[in-house]
Amino acid sequence: MFDFHAHGGKRDCNAFVSYSADEYQEGKRNRYMSLMYLPWIDTYDVRTYIDILFSDDNLMAGEIGLDSRFKDRDQSAFYTILEALEGSRKIIVIHSVRNDEKILNEIRRRDIEKAIFHSFSSSLALASKIADAGCYFSIKESFLSKKNWKEYLSLPFLLETDMKTGKEQEERICSLYSKIEAESGIDVYSLMEERKKELFDD
Ligand SMILES: [Zn+2]
Repeated sequence: MFDFHAHGGKRDCNAFVSYSADEYQEGKRNRYMSLMYLPWIDTYDVRTYIDILFSDDNLMAGEIGLDSRFKDRDQSAFYTILEALEGSRKIIVIHSVRNDEKILNEIRRRDIEKAIFHSFSSSLALASKIADAGCYFSIKESFLSKKNWKEYLSLPFLLETDMKTGKEQEERICSLYSKIEAESGIDVYSLMEERKKELFDD
């Protein structure tokens, strides 16, 4: 069971892991990995981030994004990073709190090929727009408390825990796969394997 968004815990796990620059520089690696930069957590210079990001072809971008809970913080780093990513083949993991439309427009404008809106919880209309842009949205267990969650399943969804990799995270992702499969009848395992191939070209 592949977890499409987790954070750096145990090494070599079956997940797409988002690392801080510190973790990455300390030598934490995973086959599928990305470098996180959120200006309300990561306060070092965004140029340093971009240098590290492009020093490794295997390193994807994210989570990066905009969050309206931190309005008093300068979030322009997001735009600087997207500009640097224009024309690159790196997957981008998006963190968005009440900024989905804005981010989606930016992604379209920058001609970015593959993006994942992680921890997605917005409307079905927005999920359709994400699909039309050729992007994905990733959901975690709390998404299943939405009344109409099954209506999203015809769109390009992915499954995630957003937890530190390890035993608890592994149990959580397995349980998410089983719940969705039991309630929708969809072979989620095969579907996620296919999407993983699409996403990572492997
Ligand atoms: Zn996360």
